[in-house]
Amino acid sequence: MTAHAGGPGRIAVVGAGIAGLTLALALARAGIRCEIYEQAGQLREVGAGVQIAPNAARLLRRLGLAPRLDAVAVRARAVEMRRWDDGRLLSRGELGAACEARWGAPYYLVHRADLHRALLAEIEDGRLHLGSRCLRVEEHGEDVRLHFADGSVREADVVVGADGIRSVVRDALATDRPRFSGQSIYRGLVPAGELPFLLDEPKVRLWFGPGQHCVCYPVAAGRWISVGATAPAGDWPVESWTAEGKPEELLCAYRGWHEEVGLVLGALRSVGHWALHDRDPLPRWRGRAIAVAGDSAHPMLPFMAQGANQAVEDAVVLAGCLAAAGPRNVPAALARYERLRKPRTDRIQRMSRANARTFHLGDGQGQHERDLALDRRHRDDQEWLYGHDAGALVG
Ligand SMILES: Cc1cc2nc3c(=O)[nH]c(=O)nc-3n(C[C@H](O)[C@H](O)[C@H](O)COP(=O)(O)OP(=O)(O)OC[C@H]3O[C@@H](n4cnc5c(N)ncnc54)[C@H](O)[C@@H]3O)c2cc1C
Repeated sequence: MTAHAGGPGRIAVVGAGIAGLTLALALARAGIRCEIYEQAGQLREVGAGVQIAPNAARLLRRLGLAPRLDAVAVRARAVEMRRWDDGRLLSRGELGAACEARWGAPYYLVHRADLHRALLAEIEDGRLHLGSRCLRVEEHGEDVRLHFADGSVREADVVVGADGIRSVVRDALATDRPRFSGQSIYRGLVPAGELPFLLDEPKVRLWFGPGQHCVCYPVAAGRWISVGATAPAGDWPVESWTAEGKPEELLCAYRGWHEEVGLVLGALRSVGHWALHDRDPLPRWRGRAIAVAGDSAHPMLPFMAQGANQAVEDAVVLAGCLAAAGPRNVPAALARYERLRKPRTDRIQRMSRANARTFHLGDGQGQHERDLALDRRHRDDQEWLYGHDAGALVG
């Protein structure tokens, strides 16, 4: 493994998702090299859209991604929440120019593959090792050993697990398992031209109803509409980005919903379908020279639309902590990283879980109270979520 000047010596990152690639980029910007080990033989981001709020958008822009993101992302002007049956507007959170003036960055709506490609384009050649499935990591004397599925073993001074919800690096720190939420989600893309009634204004539209909700927004410079619709999962706990769902099953689950929901879901030719899992907050994110980031550290239900945003924040803070540490100060750097990050992501994990209930209330008193509080709650959440500048903590 290559050594380098600045920060600790050899850094290995396991996983080339949003967390791993952003970390590699943030380290590179600090003049630090790392090696990235990815199990996939070929990088092929699937799924649909991802909302990148100002808290992560400002960090990605500072890392130099502004031109790439501006070319492919859509800047949301608002988030609108509506009732499931009559489509009545319950809450509208203004974004657009007001958001950029207040928080200094846009609210991007982006296709996952576009974000992934933008990150990948900035990674130095030769740093990413595909087809490298890590089986386990262990601290061994001064080193950390990484054991791979092909039988090879590598050594590093620091290992960062960015290997998602089923992280093997996390297994070196904890014995917990993913928790099935009881919810599943269907996701897919529709050419924007097929849904002209959505083209008035680029925004996130949500419809809340008993037991489930539906969300859609434009991505890919406005060419596509990304659609996500939850449904109770029954006893079907499959979790994959690529499991095929049946569009007719989805339509059936949303029978009786507002006609716009029917039009959006009816336009889906194919859908991915998977069961949603999260985990409890992890008590300890690091060993002496092992740490976790992104979903590997704090897998959360997608009901705050913050998982990828938090992965970006982790990456920038961890890179900053490692860059500030000398080669002998890795444990202190990792402790600082955990201190700066964990309270925030613990809170967001808990809130995401709570939203799984509040988003899906049946009609009645509780739903009525929720609806009355939506505007205020949304404003309060925006303030601490989007106003947080993770980069400034390590700047
Ligand atoms: C339906 C849905 C909608 C969402 N919407 C949003 C949103 O709008 N905004 C938002 O911020 N977040 C959203 N999220 C959350 C977001 O997608 C995740 O938080 C984010 O993708 C996590 O990135 P990651 O890099 O930590 O993990 P992953 O994307 O899971 O990447 C992990 C990488 O590690 C690799 N890997 C795994 N195991 C190994 C191994 N043993 N060895 C080597 N490599 C390995 C994997 O192949 C993968 O490339 C959503 C999630 C879902 C499910």
